[in-house]
Amino acid sequence: MHIDVVSVFPEYFHILELSLLGKAQQSGLLQLRVHNLRDWTHDVHHSVDDTPVGGGAGMVMKPETWAECLDEVLPQTAATSHAKPILIFPNPSAPLFTQEVAQELSQAPSIAFGCGRYEGIDARVADYYRTIGMPDVNTRCTLDVREYSIGDYVLNGGEVAVCVMIEAITRLIPGFMGNPESIVKESYTGEPLLEYPQYTRPTTWRGISVPPILTSGDHAKVDRFRRDKSLEKTSVLRPDLIQCLDCHALDKADRKTLIALGWNVSGAHPVRSHNTH
Ligand code: SAM
Repeated sequence: MHIDVVSVFPEYFHILELSLLGKAQQSGLLQLRVHNLRDWTHDVHHSVDDTPVGGGAGMVMKPETWAECLDEVLPQTAATSHAKPILIFPNPSAPLFTQEVAQELSQAPSIAFGCGRYEGIDARVADYYRTIGMPDVNTRCTLDVREYSIGDYVLNGGEVAVCVMIEAITRLIPGFMGNPESIVKESYTGEPLLEYPQYTRPTTWRGISVPPILTSGDHAKVDRFRRDKSLEKTSVLRPDLIQCLDCHALDKADRKTLIALGWNVSGAHPVRSHNTH
C-alpha cells in the first residue's frame, strides 16, 4: 500500500517507523511519504492559515496552500491505483472511523491523508477534490474524498487521528501480521462484539486464578465460555453493538446467553426485554 500524508508537523509520523509498521515499511509492504504543507507556501512566515470569514475565534487553513500541495501530491498517490484515488481528511464532525471502514480501506492500493490544524481546513477543499478533482494527464480526475472522526472529542490536529487510522488500516493488509490468525477473532471483527478477557501464565497470580474452564483442555467448552464472556461484556459495555447482531446468525447457546442477559432475540436484532440494572 502507498500512503501520502500532508501535515504541518511531519515529525508526528516518526512513530510509524516503530514496531510492525516500521517492519512493513522496511519490507516494502507499505510505502509512506509525509509532506510538509509549509513547503507549498510562498511568504516569509510560511503561513497556512487565515481568519474565519464571517468572524469568530481561531484560524482556518487556507485553500490555496492545500490545493497547490494536493495538486502535486495526489497524482503521485493515484499513480499506484487503478481505482478512484482515496483522499481522507480527519474531522471531529464527520462519521466515525470504524473497524469496518479500516477493513475496507486495507484493500486500497493507495490513500492520501490531509491533516487539519486550527479550526480545520477551508470546507471548499474537500468539496473541490470530490467534484472537480486533481489534475490528470489530459483532464481532471475526481477523488473518493472522505472525512472521518476517530471519536467524540476534539484533538489539536489531525496528525494523531491519521496515525490511528493508518495503524488500524495497515495491520489488516495481508502479510502485515506475523500470525494472520491474531486478527481474525478480535473486537469488532466479523461480528459487532467485544473480545472476551484474555489471560496468560501463571494460572494463579497474587491469589487470583484464571477461570478453571480455560485449563480444562476441552476446546469446545473453552470456545463456548469465551463466546459467552464476549456477549456478556458487550451487553454491559456496548449494548448498542448487541442491538446490531443478526438474530438469525445466533446459535442456540448464544440465544440462551442473550436471553439470560435480558435480551429478546425473537426478531431480526436483539432488543432489551427488561431492565437489567
Ligand atoms: N473546529 C473543529 C470542530 O469544532 O469540529 C475542530 C478543529 S480541531 C481543533 C483541528 C483538527 O484536528 C481538525 O481539522 C481535524 O483534522 C483534527 N481532529 C480533531 N479532533 C478530531 C477527531 N476526533 N477525529 C478526527 N480528527 C480530529
